[in-house]
Amino acid sequence: MIVDIAIGDAYGAGFEFAPREKIERFNTLMRFVPHETGIAAGHYTDDTQMSIAVCEVLLSGGPASSDEFAEAFVRCYRRDPRQGYAKGLQGLFDQSRDGRHFRSLIRPGSRRNGAAMRSVPLGLLASVAEIDQVSRSQAVVTHDTPEGILSSKVVALMVHYALYQDKAVAELARLVERDTGFRLRGDWHGEVECDAIQTLHAVHTALLNNRSTSGLLRDCVNYGGDVDSVAAIAMGVASVSLDYVDDTPDVLRRGLEAGPYGQPFLLQLDDSLRKRFPRLASRSR
Ligand SMILES: [Mg+2]
Repeated sequence: MIVDIAIGDAYGAGFEFAPREKIERFNTLMRFVPHETGIAAGHYTDDTQMSIAVCEVLLSGGPASSDEFAEAFVRCYRRDPRQGYAKGLQGLFDQSRDGRHFRSLIRPGSRRNGAAMRSVPLGLLASVAEIDQVSRSQAVVTHDTPEGILSSKVVALMVHYALYQDKAVAELARLVERDTGFRLRGDWHGEVECDAIQTLHAVHTALLNNRSTSGLLRDCVNYGGDVDSVAAIAMGVASVSLDYVDDTPDVLRRGLEAGPYGQPFLLQLDDSLRKRFPRLASRSR
């Protein structure tokens, strides 16, 4: 799960708000591409790092409270500062001694997709009631808005239905609407802003239109805009769904960054998730 999120994130990161010519030339899955802002090829960004933080809270066995999530977000950033965060948020992380300090500094009024992009692991929670509670707890740390909270819950529910109830991707919109009242669109096209609701529609449309991870990755990037978040979420959902053939090219599977929080760390984290949430082991590739 987390490796797939990281592949989507790192592949998409090279194309985040890139000009159309770059997408047309390099969105071939032949290799990771660097981003002009300084993100090296194969390096993941905030989407994966914050998903790691969410995993660490879920694995800790302690309460999945907003304070615990804040602590994990700050800890993961400070031990491994990396590119890709919104400048304002990164500035707050740089100033924050710990989660409590961070919460005293932030004004969490964002309607952007930051709460959604880290919510795939929340689908590991075994009940919808728990997802409802925990997605809210994590979202409000940075995105205490109806859109921020909803977007976290919708991502977690998509993962949960695919993983625990073997639901087909074509059924996800109906189930999400039943449980949240929110209608996922299946006809998104064009550039995706850093917007919570647009991101949900784009992820869902790409999932509906593909049955392989290679097609999924290419479609996510082809939208243009905030494509690393779209690809990270979509690859995370696909990783637990029975609907997708995993044909992610080896050059991407093997080409993720090394280093202390690179591929070996992510593989180990996936292993820990499979032990803690045995249902995930049934989807392991
Ligand atoms: Mg990112």
